[in-house]
Amino acid sequence: MTDDISWLEAILNPSPEENPAEAFPWHLGVFDAHCHPTDTPSSLDSIPHMKARALAIMATRGEDQSVVASFAEAHTLTPSSSIPQLLQKETSPDGPQQQHDCKLIPSFGYHPWFSHLIYDDTHLPPPSKQDHYTSILTPLPPLPFLSSLPDPLPLTHLLSQTRTRLYKHLYALIGEIGLDRSFRLPDHVPTPSSSSSTDELTGRREGRSLSSYRVTISHQRTILTAQLALAGELQRAVSVHGVAAHGLLFETLAETWKGYEKNVVSRRAQRQRQKQRQEEARAENEVDGDGDGGDADRKATMPFPPRICLHSYSGPPDTLRRYYHPSVPATVFVSFSVLVNLKEATGRKTVDVIRTVPDGCVLVESDLHCAGERMDGLLERMVRVVCRAKGWGLEEGVRRLGDNWRRFVFGVG
Ligand SMILES: [Zn+2]
Repeated sequence: MTDDISWLEAILNPSPEENPAEAFPWHLGVFDAHCHPTDTPSSLDSIPHMKARALAIMATRGEDQSVVASFAEAHTLTPSSSIPQLLQKETSPDGPQQQHDCKLIPSFGYHPWFSHLIYDDTHLPPPSKQDHYTSILTPLPPLPFLSSLPDPLPLTHLLSQTRTRLYKHLYALIGEIGLDRSFRLPDHVPTPSSSSSTDELTGRREGRSLSSYRVTISHQRTILTAQLALAGELQRAVSVHGVAAHGLLFETLAETWKGYEKNVVSRRAQRQRQKQRQEEARAENEVDGDGDGGDADRKATMPFPPRICLHSYSGPPDTLRRYYHPSVPATVFVSFSVLVNLKEATGRKTVDVIRTVPDGCVLVESDLHCAGERMDGLLERMVRVVCRAKGWGLEEGVRRLGDNWRRFVFGVG
């Protein structure tokens, strides 16, 4: 795959204010909304030398949650209360490049590509390994394939680990989570004993041949919905992956704010639903012996993630418009990457999609598995394309995208 997007020049008008010789305004602060540097632990050392101001780094599976936490701890800001302000600072264009030191915002969650490794024990007794895999994989794999899969882990346990990490990391997001209808299980599942390096241990997702076995979409939805509920409970932003399931993804997200839509449901119906939920929460508290109704009421009124990023969104503009219906109570951001959105086959559609997203909701990302120069280069290219698609000058665009990133991550900007 090439990072070259010169073919795209032909369909984008230069921004009126853009001077091709103009240096890229890194000093204004450039932010990555979604990437995976923990897939290459050796790239950790390159982070202090990056030009980007901050990266939102995603966990995807059991093995990388603690790696994401330790990466973030190595490049966090202290005290944590100053993070939003510090990331807002513009530095001098002539100053040393590394004066800001790139920071990391961790994001914890389970990607749909790894959802089969989790069993749902929220309302059900733990199944046997074979029962679990035969109930969620389609078509039914032969016994040797099933036996090669690892023992699945209980959903409630993973959720409580994520909850603990989110308490510890004040600004952490939930992600990468989502739905993927095109995903198939890899043919060979690497085991730690067959891997020789740390990089291999964390399991790069590239270059592995695929079987014909898929994870049922209903199981993927179960894992996604449980993580969305946690995001609602703790009021954290989420980074969401959606492939070949754009309509269903919208419906799954919309389920979380059912009864809390803005303006569309009649006020009377809305009051009735809210009252019903509050009564349910109160009844639950009484059973728990927890008398503090105020906090429970507040949480009961916000069961959905407050901010959602559709990462490397590849669906049509029409599906996207559903997220911007005035009734949707969550703020929905869309981030774009060179690697997914600017392939020659999809680039034209991407330009239309970028123009569909409200100016205050566009983000850029690298979605790259390795920190360093290439990550900076991909961000710069994507920022330039967004600015030209939107008709923004480069400095104006970088400032707007920085504001959007801060609003997505911190809820303020
Ligand atoms: Zn990703």
